[in-house]
Amino acid sequence: MPKHPRIFAAQLGCAKNQVDAEHLLAELYSAGFISAKSADKADYLLINTCGFIEAAKEESIDIILSYIKIKKPNQKLIVSGCLSERYMKDLPKEMPEVDFWLGTYKKNKILEVIGYDGRASGKEELPRLNLGEYPHHAYLKIAEGCNRRCAFCAIPNIRGKQESSSIKDIVKEAKELEKQGVKELTLIAQDTTYFGREKGKKGGTLTELLKALLKETEIPWIRMLYWYPEFIDDELLELMGKEPRLCKYIDMPIQHASDKVLKLMRRHYDKTSLKGILKSIREKVPGVTLRTTVLVGFPGETQEDFDQLMELIQETRFEHLGGFVFSPEENTPAMKLKELPVSEEEARARLDAINDVQEEIAEEANEAIIGKEVKVIIDGVAEESDYHFIGRTEGNALDTDDIVKIVEGNATPGEFYKVQVVDSTPHELIAKIIGKI
Ligand code: SF4
Repeated sequence: MPKHPRIFAAQLGCAKNQVDAEHLLAELYSAGFISAKSADKADYLLINTCGFIEAAKEESIDIILSYIKIKKPNQKLIVSGCLSERYMKDLPKEMPEVDFWLGTYKKNKILEVIGYDGRASGKEELPRLNLGEYPHHAYLKIAEGCNRRCAFCAIPNIRGKQESSSIKDIVKEAKELEKQGVKELTLIAQDTTYFGREKGKKGGTLTELLKALLKETEIPWIRMLYWYPEFIDDELLELMGKEPRLCKYIDMPIQHASDKVLKLMRRHYDKTSLKGILKSIREKVPGVTLRTTVLVGFPGETQEDFDQLMELIQETRFEHLGGFVFSPEENTPAMKLKELPVSEEEARARLDAINDVQEEIAEEANEAIIGKEVKVIIDGVAEESDYHFIGRTEGNALDTDDIVKIVEGNATPGEFYKVQVVDSTPHELIAKIIGKI
């Protein structure tokens, strides 16, 4: 093996998996690895897989198979991430061509698994990498795993119980990213509102973490993904309401609104408490943008249950909403439910009805901004000729929500500007630059 082996990495899945790949590659580079420009130039091929739902599993398997096909005899293939963690017993038997199976990211494990002694490289430990599309944005994972046991979800089986990082380590990582030019930091965990709680008082809380980040860094935008409708107290909401560097943006998957379905889903709230939380959020964080996720067609969901969900959506007017049809995941409590299943056709029809309503809500929400001046971060130069730059407001998370198309004025990617919104569609704002902020 050369002194500086070349590695080519393929990254699949969510932002949490991306952060894992960033840590993993930082460890390899610290040990002397260098990046290969293409798969055929690499000594090692790495696939960081996703195994969350059926479609993601299929995509991961297809990519592993395609790498097995192109792999040369002198190359080593490493498979890491959720799929390998979930099927660690079976996959190595089915795909013997894969040289190393790694599971989800654990510090200091990769070198041991591949049997590479990096001490000879003489390199110092590198700060974590930022492999995202834009250098001004980074994800920072504040906790691994999840302590909830939602009936439909396989994540706790794959990623285990929650393990929060310490506030000190998170602040250190945020400072490193700030030094690298990050202007927008997105904190991620399965349930950021549960941050630190598995450690009792010494783990700290999300509010304490945010206060530390605000004090120790000057990163202009800090946002969080995702909240769970529990442990959302006034202190947290008031901090978000008054602190301009915390994006007034909350992504809180509610999944459902019927008490019966919420109970079957093993969610720890009911319709009344959910409505109370939503009311508090709107009151205490003026101008907040709300995103949610809902799941329809869960076993036992009747038309009446669905109507309750629809009513809550119409009442709350979430600015952004993603809807999904329930699909049973192996080894989840939902697989054992005796409730009447909802037919695929019925579930699809319910989702379509939600999407139609949401499209109108999103259209109206964006129309209400026309004529207003808002702050945006410019993500990049546009490839289309009818607009020049692409950006986002604080109410829009990267790769998930609406974009702002800049049709007039000049800008530099990674900088903040005041823009005037001149037009809109349900998922886009059209704006012109007023000036740099
Ligand atoms: S809170 Fe989220 S990640 Fe955790 S079990 Fe529920 S759905 Fe899964």
